Amino acid sequence: MMRLMRDLYSPDAYDTAHLPDSWWAASAGDPPADEPLAADITADVAVIGGGFTGLSAALHLARDFGRRVVVLEAGPLGWGASGRNGGFCCTGASKLGWEALTRRYGAESAAAFFRAQWDGVGLVRQLAAEEGLDIEAQGRGEMLLAHKPNRLKELEAEQADLRRRFGQETDLVDVAGLAARGMAGPHFHGGLFVPGPFGVHPLRYTWSLARAARRHGAAVHGRSPVRAIEDAGAAGLRLVTPHGRVTAARVLIATNGYTRDGLHPGLAGRTLPVLSSILVTRPLTADELAAQGWHSGDLAADTRRLLHYFRLLPDGRFLFGGRGGTRTGAGVEVMHRRLERAFRAMFPAWQAVTVTHRWNGFVCLALDLHPHLAEVRGEGRLTCALAYHGAGVSTATWTGRAAAARMAGRPLHYGPVPDFIQRPPPRFPLPGLRLWGLRAAYLRYGLSDEWL
Ligand SMILES: Cc1cc2nc3c(=O)[nH]c(=O)nc-3n(C[C@H](O)[C@H](O)[C@H](O)COP(=O)(O)OP(=O)(O)OC[C@H]3O[C@@H](n4cnc5c(N)ncnc54)[C@H](O)[C@@H]3O)c2cc1C
Repeated sequence: MMRLMRDLYSPDAYDTAHLPDSWWAASAGDPPADEPLAADITADVAVIGGGFTGLSAALHLARDFGRRVVVLEAGPLGWGASGRNGGFCCTGASKLGWEALTRRYGAESAAAFFRAQWDGVGLVRQLAAEEGLDIEAQGRGEMLLAHKPNRLKELEAEQADLRRRFGQETDLVDVAGLAARGMAGPHFHGGLFVPGPFGVHPLRYTWSLARAARRHGAAVHGRSPVRAIEDAGAAGLRLVTPHGRVTAARVLIATNGYTRDGLHPGLAGRTLPVLSSILVTRPLTADELAAQGWHSGDLAADTRRLLHYFRLLPDGRFLFGGRGGTRTGAGVEVMHRRLERAFRAMFPAWQAVTVTHRWNGFVCLALDLHPHLAEVRGEGRLTCALAYHGAGVSTATWTGRAAAARMAGRPLHYGPVPDFIQRPPPRFPLPGLRLWGLRAAYLRYGLSDEWL
């Protein structure tokens, strides 16, 4: 069943022996227990993947629908993107702009997706309050920073577009305004501030979501890679792990950027894992922050298509992340050096500041550039929830909840789910060449980011 197609990246990218050496792993405190599954058991729903999607689905299925749920995570809990991301709880899970979404699916569906995105941001805060989750929330919004003077015009157009389509209010900020907000930099030409998004400690969030799901009765097993999905006839599907099997009426695939083509033929060639990399500095002193003119704890990203995202963490460390790079293994070092050069160029006052942590991981793209919550191959027992395009803190949490409602047979329990995300992710043409397509796109983006 497994390994029908070769993985796109080298084996080290899938090595689940340890958590990545991230600042989050260094600062999250004690992990929850992650005993592997060690018996043959049954459940109403089995979930493959213990990130935000899988854990949110498990929590909601157990808490709100009284279902018996088992989560199987290949690595230690928090191993996937959920435990290693930038912690931006924001919107942006489709790479289609609002105009393109509207043209393709209609104004009503685009508006439903807009509402779902903001519902997702609110859901993280709501869950944290309801379940007492330790998420280390920080900041009041996200600043999109024009990396060239002409990008300010685009931000102005975006502001008008958001107001016209959805009545959303944002603030256009000039260079003096950026300095006043503690977001100064010699290469920023103004910005658009979107109120609402906030930062979280992603690994603490993941772990506390796992603990909450357990409190409500879900079984959550780490170090339990699913090696095969078998047909169990009237009993449903059987998931086979090295030391135990789960037979469940329904199965949720919540593996996002770590979905390997061999997991199930119905998903092979339908996702594109894309690298995102992060560095974190030592804590900056008050003088260093003043020298750069940066003291805001709000989220920030630039207007490049190969975007950089950054935030000052609660203890004064600076987190800086970016996309790009299509090679793991030896290629990782090149990618990290490029990221550090971009960081030092953008924040020249911090030339000599030590970088203490670097790591990377996979975000998940779909060919049609939006998330999916759908049956796999029209097989009612098997659902997938994935492809958040690098904005999964909120969207994976939201989609996990929507998956719970769907699998409990109450799809509208938490409100409407945009129709277009309920289609299966389309297969990439020539899936073996996905990374070549990505390289060509990066080349185009790099040129347009710097020369247009
Ligand atoms: C470096 C980086 C920075 C990011 N920054 C942000 C950000 O700031 N804001 C934001 O919103 N999003 C960000 N993202 C994206 C976000 O982290 C993801 O969209 C989100 O975590 C997806 O959650 P998930 O639960 O669907 O998948 P994941 O958290 O990736 O979990 C999938 C899990 O499935 C497991 N798995 C795979 N195969 C199997 C199997 N056969 N058996 C058992 N388990 C299996 C994997 O081990 C993995 O842990 C970032 C991602 C990365 C990598």
